Amino acid sequence: MRDNVRVGNNVLVQGGLSVGPAGALIGGDAAVEGDLGVLGGLVRPRRRAASGCRAADAGNRCHAGAVGAVAHRAAADPSRRLTATSVDARILRLPSVHGAPASWHGQALLCCDRGMMKTVNQQVKPPAAQFHRQVIGEVELIALSDGGINYPAAMIFGNVPPEGATRYDLPGRQLFLPYTLLLIRRGRSLTLCDVGAGDLGNPGDQAFPGLDHRTSRTNLLVPSLLAAGIDPGEINIVLITHAHPDHVGGMLDAEDRLVFPNAHYTIAQREWDYWMAADPATAGAAALRGHLEQLIATARKALDAIAGRVTLVQGDEEVAPGIRLESTPGHTLGHMMVTIAAGGQTVYNISDLVVHPLFIEHPQWAPAIDMDAGQADAVRRRFFARAAAENALVFGHHLGPFPNLGRIVQWGDAWQWQPT
Ligand SMILES: [Zn+2]
Repeated sequence: MRDNVRVGNNVLVQGGLSVGPAGALIGGDAAVEGDLGVLGGLVRPRRRAASGCRAADAGNRCHAGAVGAVAHRAAADPSRRLTATSVDARILRLPSVHGAPASWHGQALLCCDRGMMKTVNQQVKPPAAQFHRQVIGEVELIALSDGGINYPAAMIFGNVPPEGATRYDLPGRQLFLPYTLLLIRRGRSLTLCDVGAGDLGNPGDQAFPGLDHRTSRTNLLVPSLLAAGIDPGEINIVLITHAHPDHVGGMLDAEDRLVFPNAHYTIAQREWDYWMAADPATAGAAALRGHLEQLIATARKALDAIAGRVTLVQGDEEVAPGIRLESTPGHTLGHMMVTIAAGGQTVYNISDLVVHPLFIEHPQWAPAIDMDAGQADAVRRRFFARAAAENALVFGHHLGPFPNLGRIVQWGDAWQWQPT
């Protein structure tokens, strides 16, 4: 084992790391110990282990076999600096280390004692349009940033107990949630899952007053599409996973024209019926009271706009070759996930089945915004077991970091999010 290496302000990288060119750190098995200040270099895993930092269980210490820590180019680009405040944080883990900085929203996962995972809520500048392509067999998956918004932390961390909040060093006031959409290209067909938030986050005060919204920004879906070389008019299928504003708020442009004018739309009958009949006095999760009139108005405006070009599905259904909608109720009563057959495997777009990686490690915890918490809990656990057994590629609308793709692996009695 090599000597310990001290990096940046207060960071001690223990064992097995060496300093590479340009200040980069090349890591093997190692642990980062101490108060993580601002890292000034890049820690790059020499190898990737499917087990993540499972070795932490034995020694109460994380190992960096699958772990990289990044604040690459921090010196050159201070906006990408990463700060972690927790003294018990051991490992800063980022996927796609080599390409991460450009596509990274300022979120990182911290993998800590006993396999804990943290999201560092350091969205230091408003998100920008971006896309990410991944080809699997005959299918091209394109992740598209629509931006993101700062939420009241209590709305997301729901029933997380105080000791959990302390252990994970969860932000008490607000949490940035990325909004990322998935586009599926198969042959000449372009299937977009949801239509984005529109101007919901511009400014963020209209959604969540009283928070610091300097980093909230939405309506980036079309710029991200254009950056990927795709015109909105080319989209021929739109699947609506559910009718919350961050998923249907982008249905119409500023002149109230459909943003995707040549698409046919599909949504669950139950979701459609719910929002069309919803009573602002009782609809939705209690945590969203005060927002319900806006939720209902946004949903109805979006759904009204596609009447006449929408198919309402009753349950699980193949909606295009190799693409299925599957009922996953709980977050909303008609919530659907999208399954994509690609290269002999199944890829899942779980939309808002999980809105934060924390809920994968602790399935007994849940966000306060689930409409039917019991149902959501059961559906989540079933899905985690299925995704882990299949070692499936999973996409989550809010499951950063960008491009919101990863795998769910078994982790003791629970599971863990491992971004690709
Ligand atoms: Zn959402």
